[in-house]
Amino acid sequence: MKHYPVAKPYIGSQEEKAVRQVLRSGILSIGPEVADFERKFAKRIGARFACAVSSGTAGLHLALVAAGIQKGDEVITSPFSFVASANAILYVGAKPVFVDINSKSFNIDPAQIEARITSRTKAILVVHIFGQAADMKKILALARKHRLKIIEDACESLDAEYYGRKVGTFGESAVFAFYPNKQITTGEGGMIVTNDKKVYQLCRSLRNQGRSDNLKWLDHKILGYNYRLNELSAALGQCQLDKIDFILSQRRRLAAWYTKYLTQHSEFIAVPEVMASNSHSWFVYVVRLKHPKVKRDAVITDLEKVGISAKAYLPSIHLFSFYRKSFKYKQGDFPVAEMISDSSLALPFYIGLKENDIKRITATLSSIVKKHEKRV
Ligand SMILES: *Cc1c(COP(=O)(O)O)cnc(C)c1O
Repeated sequence: MKHYPVAKPYIGSQEEKAVRQVLRSGILSIGPEVADFERKFAKRIGARFACAVSSGTAGLHLALVAAGIQKGDEVITSPFSFVASANAILYVGAKPVFVDINSKSFNIDPAQIEARITSRTKAILVVHIFGQAADMKKILALARKHRLKIIEDACESLDAEYYGRKVGTFGESAVFAFYPNKQITTGEGGMIVTNDKKVYQLCRSLRNQGRSDNLKWLDHKILGYNYRLNELSAALGQCQLDKIDFILSQRRRLAAWYTKYLTQHSEFIAVPEVMASNSHSWFVYVVRLKHPKVKRDAVITDLEKVGISAKAYLPSIHLFSFYRKSFKYKQGDFPVAEMISDSSLALPFYIGLKENDIKRITATLSSIVKKHEKRV
């Protein structure tokens, strides 16, 4: 039986060659590959500076430290995200203040932000979820009005655009990630981009134990971390970046096939909606089961039995036990996020899937969903 994983990186012989070259050079960290990767990445996004780090999570942590967010501060963010975006706010001692999402874009609903702003609010950590830019016009207006900083979690949205402007260029800083399920990978890795030289220099220092930027001067001026990206990963990342147009166009094609076949089953399966403002960067293909009583987890189990992996995507952060325990969140606090969390699943989505695979996956999904609908 053919098995379809949910995600798979797109790695070729160029990557193997580049990594082998680094291995042979003997320079495995703090070397030329990271600097080259940063330069190329900044250029691609159209930002002045880029600072490579060991993960997207590390990047978010440093972006918040560099923004001066600290204990007692509040940061507004989305509950419908990968847990790292809210966790990073906790790392600096601040409080994540969740605001519910828009049911179509799955991004933070700007209309509900203002009610949650207090005298302690310092920033909005905007998550661009699933490759879709958040509604930046309204968010920027609110940030200006209330003098809040904006930090973008663009970890799922490399190359996405909002009215023609790339995500990652709206905030004081933005963070991208290169875990193997992202559009491009470095194994583990992340990138902070910014136009602010001070933020950039601070992030560079923070990722390297708080050393001053001039490595010859081994003073530790501030409390830093080891969040460096290694040279092997940076070499891999450059190869991936070289192919990014191909990768993104292939992913667009996969999404179009899915949408074509699933639109035939629109009475019970909702396909992703791309906002008119958005040029989408396809990170995952997430569908929603429309019948409120069909058990999404049972559908996932049935799919797995026939070799198709699917994943509950995404659980809402406020309902994780750590967040419930720490902040007394409960079911019903963010009803839209919860409704999407309970009914959505990510389908296999990676380069190498053929149109026939997608035809088969969607036919299997729809017959399983139909079977479950009959039961309820
Ligand atoms: C992947 C991701 C991150 C960062 O994840 P790492 O595994 O630390 O690279 C952060 N936020 C979101 C929304 C993500 O999807």
